[in-house]
Amino acid sequence: MKTKSVLFLLLLLCVVKGFAQPRKTKNVILISLDGYRWREIFLGADSALLYNKRYTKDSAWTFQKYWAATVQERREKLMPFTWSQIAKNGQLYGNRTLGNKVDLKNTFWFSYPGRSETWTGHFDPAINSNDKIDNPNENVMEFINKQKGFAGKTAAFASWDVVAWILNRNRNGITVNIWGEDVKGPKLTPQQKEANAYQHMMPDPWGQGERLDVSTYRLSKAYLEAQHPRLFYIDFGDLDCYAHDGAYNKYLDAANKTDLMIKDLWEYLQKDPFYKDQTTLIICADHGRGEDSKWTGHGTSAPHSNETYLLVMGPDTKPLGEVKTAGQIYQDQFAQTIANLLGFQFTPKHPVGEAVKTVLNGH
Ligand SMILES: [Zn+2]
Repeated sequence: MKTKSVLFLLLLLCVVKGFAQPRKTKNVILISLDGYRWREIFLGADSALLYNKRYTKDSAWTFQKYWAATVQERREKLMPFTWSQIAKNGQLYGNRTLGNKVDLKNTFWFSYPGRSETWTGHFDPAINSNDKIDNPNENVMEFINKQKGFAGKTAAFASWDVVAWILNRNRNGITVNIWGEDVKGPKLTPQQKEANAYQHMMPDPWGQGERLDVSTYRLSKAYLEAQHPRLFYIDFGDLDCYAHDGAYNKYLDAANKTDLMIKDLWEYLQKDPFYKDQTTLIICADHGRGEDSKWTGHGTSAPHSNETYLLVMGPDTKPLGEVKTAGQIYQDQFAQTIANLLGFQFTPKHPVGEAVKTVLNGH
């Protein structure tokens, strides 16, 4: 009886602490798509912008690539990996035509506040600009970096330079590689050296502070292969830049090429024994953007910019595919979801949104 009572108490303690189910996830990779709309992910190319000569210059070619009779065909043409693999083996939240919503908690609807909400799990009204100011709030990446077995095993690669301030590498010393910076280290692989060199040969279409995503991706993949980080963040920026330019055909191309990079990443992860079958992939945005003539912008002057999404695929996440039931998730829930996937409870000084339970409920 005594042993039984002890066992029962231990079990109760495990349940209370949330450690009843050991997770298979050993690593988490989060990809952020700057200002990419839920509309294109779930509905494919938007005819209102595709037919508009102002936004789509080479419409014949763009039509050929991304238009089709049905929504299902259109979204598969635009993001074939997402709709063949993530839709089959993961979860996609945010199709508002089905009443499934993901929204920002912050009321600003632009880049720094959006990313800050993702990584700190908190809407701080004081985070109200894109200025290069060190984020005072603790983020889940530095929290994980302090846990046993994770020191030096977290890193971020971003196309946009402000990400270094959003994650506050000055405070936590985490590797945050941004526009214009080479990866440093005593033993770089040939792939890392080449990725470093190539980023300076590519054009800077948007000038200072923003590099092309393919450069960020090449640097990221070379780093994954060399260092095997356990919490890794890739921050893509092309989509937002082409949208601000008002170039809908290039925005669609960027979506299509982003999908290809995600495919390439997933195929690599499933080949490397360090990551295979024990890595959860999360895809989200920092904000949405407006509709019709307001699609080029975001922020409070562009209604719907608070509308985002959450895509997850990994060994602890049931393959529900596109979630078709009504529901509401907020961006401030992502940080705790990341911590829980890795077996931790994120406990900073500020309040944190609770984890998205349906992501964590196993197969
Ligand atoms: Zn943004």
